[in-house]
Amino acid sequence: MEPQRSPLLEVKGNVELKRPLAKAASRLPLSGRRLKRGPDQMEEALEPEKKRTRGLGTRVSTTHPRAAALSSAPQTQGQTTVPKAPRKPAPRCSTAVAPVLKTQKPGPVVPAQKPGTTAAPPMVGGKKPKRPAWDLKGQLCDLNAELKCCREKKQVLDQENQQLRDQLQEAQQQALALGAERRSLEEELTRVRAQAEQGQRELGNLSARVLELEERLGTQEGLVQELQKEQLRLQEERTGLAARLGEQERRLQTSEASLSDSQEEVASLRQEAAAREAVLAEREDRLHGLEMERRRLHNQLQELKGNIRVFCRVRPVLPGESTPSPGFLQFPSGPCGPSDPPTRLSLSRSDERRGTLSGAPAGPTRHDFSFDRVFPPGSGQDEVFEEISMLVQSALDGYPVCIFAYGQTGSGKTFTMEGGPGGDPQMEGLIPRALRHLFSVAQELSGQGWTYSFVASYVEIYNETVRDLLATGTRKGQGGECEIRRAGPGSEELTVTNARYVPVSCEREVEALLHLARQNRAVARTAQNERSSRSHSVFQLQISGEHAGRGLQCAAPLSLVDLAGSERLDPGLALGPGERERLRETQAINSSLSTLGLVMMALSNKESHVPYRNSKLTYLLQNSLGGSAKMLMFVNISPLEENVSESLNSLRFASKVRSLAARSPSGFLLTVGICTLVLGASGTCILKGCIFARHLTIDFWGD
Ligand code: ADP
Ligand code: MG
Repeated sequence: MEPQRSPLLEVKGNVELKRPLAKAASRLPLSGRRLKRGPDQMEEALEPEKKRTRGLGTRVSTTHPRAAALSSAPQTQGQTTVPKAPRKPAPRCSTAVAPVLKTQKPGPVVPAQKPGTTAAPPMVGGKKPKRPAWDLKGQLCDLNAELKCCREKKQVLDQENQQLRDQLQEAQQQALALGAERRSLEEELTRVRAQAEQGQRELGNLSARVLELEERLGTQEGLVQELQKEQLRLQEERTGLAARLGEQERRLQTSEASLSDSQEEVASLRQEAAAREAVLAEREDRLHGLEMERRRLHNQLQELKGNIRVFCRVRPVLPGESTPSPGFLQFPSGPCGPSDPPTRLSLSRSDERRGTLSGAPAGPTRHDFSFDRVFPPGSGQDEVFEEISMLVQSALDGYPVCIFAYGQTGSGKTFTMEGGPGGDPQMEGLIPRALRHLFSVAQELSGQGWTYSFVASYVEIYNETVRDLLATGTRKGQGGECEIRRAGPGSEELTVTNARYVPVSCEREVEALLHLARQNRAVARTAQNERSSRSHSVFQLQISGEHAGRGLQCAAPLSLVDLAGSERLDPGLALGPGERERLRETQAINSSLSTLGLVMMALSNKESHVPYRNSKLTYLLQNSLGGSAKMLMFVNISPLEENVSESLNSLRFASKVRSLAARSPSGFLLTVGICTLVLGASGTCILKGCIFARHLTIDFWGD
């Protein structure tokens, strides 16, 4: 079976395999079929020729068998093939050989009939007639002839044998050569097979590679298809984008056109804005100048009104109190009639000790008082605050402001300062209203570049001891721990040790502080009977303002003081232990109040020594009194006739204070004249808490 050939081998075979085979065939005298046999088989291959030659007795051959065998080598099989006769033992040389010999060498083989012998019987039917038995001579003759024939035949056969041996030797040599050639061919075949196997393997690898590449090709083709689709999509998208781009470009051109218009417009607007900014800056400067002018004029106005002002407030008759007789208190109208705010008050007192000559009781004595403003019992808290809001503005402008509430216990001092009970907004006192006003104005001034901060403290002075009303925790209700000290060596600023200074920025924080102060007073009230009315309550707010843009600063304290009850001890009372304590309290109160009067007097008289240190109250308030400080005293009056004596005392004290106001620097303004102070370019002038800096010219009224 022919091995399956690879295409590669087949190609090679066409070139290489056929060549040695053809070469071998050309060198061999034998047919290709015989060449396939080995050298051992060669003799065997030659054997049938011999046999055929030997077996010619049965066949008639016109050619020499040996020559036929040799000459038939290059012939085709069909031309040379003679059906093989079955191998038989070589027949003895008999009559059967004769025809062969006759055909080969007919002449010499046929024996001549000897005389004396009978001639050979004629052929009957192709067969040699048998000699009769008696023809011994004939028979001998035949035998001799036959022997001669055999000898000749033998000679021929020997020659043939020798030829065959030579041929055999030659064939063997050929076989050896062929064997060598075969081995080389086999080696070549092995090499070729190895090459074929290598080629096969390479082919396998290449096939696998081809498969892999085909697979990759398939994948790549899929990818290519996808990419083609993507490319199509992108092309569509590109077309869309190009259209949009065209649109955008058109819009851009339009926009650029409008932009250039806008830029021109912007340029003109910028010019306009620059012009406006210049105008604005100029206006700001003017506004600032106006603000400073407003401050100056406001201060002038306040000073014209008086750096010390006294307001009188009469509280209404409370439920359960006896209504005073008509005409007991009167509020005469001003020069412009009832539309004028009242500034005068008349108190009628019937003195039973005085009598007329007729013995009839004398008529009531009328006491007239005049103040900067008088608030009759029906005046509301808002009305009262309106009058002092100007002073609060002065505090923001950098002038120390101090507001006192003076009067006997129950006259309405606390109501005026803090407000009525119940948290009714209408009943709110001066402290919450003043602070709300401060926060609001500070907010407005922030638009002009001013920044304000506020720090609150609230203390009470009882029997010349200072107690923090904003104390919390374990310090709540305790007193005597606070001392008034200077903030530092050489500093004019005063501070109360152990007292809380709380920054505040809104009304709620102030309300919380007032609530805490009320709680602290309530604790003290249980410890000592009505101590709150026997002590001075001082609410202080440190106001600090700064105009960073112009390098201006201002600072001033706003003090709101609810003074202790000014009533005197009834001299008719027996002096028990409680009364002695009360007497001591009263003496302390009277001492501090008279010191306050003396301080005011010393300030108004421009005395070199002001007795601030004579009481804790004046010592604490020394920065809020005198100089450019604004002082307002509320004298609170009870409307009751039974309190007439204390009311008169209060009114007289207040009148004295007011008389000081008439002699205060502002009182002499019109007569003394105007003094102008011009500050240097980098100079700073401190005016009792009011600081002005840089390029600022101040015209102020002064002595
Ligand atoms: P003081 O502090 O001088 O001792 P208060 O402020 O405590 O007096 O006032 C005593 C009482 O009179 C309080 O009940 C207060 O509510 C009331 N009162 C004072 N002034 C007024 C007023 N103007 N309107 C209404 N009630 C007032
Ligand atoms: Mg009070």
